[in-house]
Amino acid sequence: MTIIDGKQTAEEYKALLKQEVNVLVAIGKRPPGLAILLIGNNGASETYVANKLKTCHDVGFNASLFRFENTVSESEILNCINELNFNSSIDGVIVQSPFPNHISPQKINEAIHPAKDVDGFHPMNAGRLQQNKPCYIAATPKGIMQLIEKYKIETQGKHCVVVGRSNIVGMPMSILLSRNSKPGNCTVTICHSKTVDLASYTKRADILIAAIGSPELITAAMVKEGAVVIDVGITRVADQATKSGYKLKGDIKYDEVANKCSFITPVPGGVGPMTIIGLLQNTLLAAKNAIYN
Ligand code: NAD
Repeated sequence: MTIIDGKQTAEEYKALLKQEVNVLVAIGKRPPGLAILLIGNNGASETYVANKLKTCHDVGFNASLFRFENTVSESEILNCINELNFNSSIDGVIVQSPFPNHISPQKINEAIHPAKDVDGFHPMNAGRLQQNKPCYIAATPKGIMQLIEKYKIETQGKHCVVVGRSNIVGMPMSILLSRNSKPGNCTVTICHSKTVDLASYTKRADILIAAIGSPELITAAMVKEGAVVIDVGITRVADQATKSGYKLKGDIKYDEVANKCSFITPVPGGVGPMTIIGLLQNTLLAAKNAIYN
């Protein structure tokens, strides 16, 4: 069994991003600029945003954080996005989820100009992904595809089961793996909360991708011997033995599944670090498009 080291892989990609920024700056161009909007003070969101800002700083991007109270109005957020859409030093705009209930994720996603939609959530980018046209690919599936490539995991003709159908992970993941490309060419089954007898599907997966948000839902009995197992889930589970008072858990029961599969991503240190890389790669691409077009 091979543990897929997302942390190490992300470090390698970070070095490449840094090199590209150095080249841009050396030829007199500006570094890529990313704007992050953060609403409220959800602990997990604070951590994700801090990691994104740190990685931007490490590779030489300009990153700006726009903080809002939980009570901020939807129109205030939309106005901020609109200003950023017209700001020529900003290449990418993202709004950290989750949002308060009075703010519509759909309105937010559609307000970000598709050319600055480095999360790849705008319908324009999601639609272009489906049609296999150049687009910004949602960062988590993009990162997972790079892990699959790096670890030379064969996907052609394999049966991939994606558990979860969100626009952020499950849906784009299933499209990427079913495309006629390398990696790709899988036969994909999508499972979700209304799937009856989930185990009957997961047991038939050569490649199992869990993006559910339900800690340790997938047990060894639900996994085929020798499967490739990618765990996207991250949930904070209370644990008084730790300093923070919680532990991060994936959707996979790691200790028992690890004994049965061929490849597995740990949580933390698997998919998470590559999500940030996917986001920064999209931002670099947006910057190059803005600078050279
Ligand atoms: P979501 O809540 O939008 O979607 C969850 C999906 O799981 C839904 O499609 C739902 O139908 C399905 N589901 C729920 N219960 C199920 C069940 N019992 N059986 C089968 N399917 C079930 O969540 P999301 O945004 O897609 O995120 C999923 C998980 O991945 C979360 O834990 C999230 O924190 C994590 N995540 C991690 C990263 C990363 O970088 N590692 C990035 C994004 C999301």
